[in-house]
Amino acid sequence: MNWMHSCKKVAELLSQRLDEPLGLIDSLRLRIHLSMCDNCGNVDKQMSSVNALAADLFSGGGAIQEDAQATQHSEATPTSPA
Ligand SMILES: [Zn+2]
Repeated sequence: MNWMHSCKKVAELLSQRLDEPLGLIDSLRLRIHLSMCDNCGNVDKQMSSVNALAADLFSGGGAIQEDAQATQHSEATPTSPA
C-alpha cells in the first residue's frame, strides 16, 4: 500500500476536507504527507486560516470592522496681491 500521497492528491483532499470529513485512511495519509512535505503544510495552513475566516463571516461574528477614514481636504489658496 502506498502511504505517501502525491502533492496533487493532497491538495484535492485538503479542499475536500472543507466540505466533508475525510475517511480515516485519507486523513491519516494526509497527516503523514503534511508531516513530510513543507509545501503542502503551508497550503494546509493557508486553507485552514481562510476556512476559519469564512466560518467567522458566515456565523455572523462581526469580527470585521470597516474603518471609515475621513479624508481631509486642505485647500491651497494662492495668495494673490490685492
Ligand atoms: Zn506535498
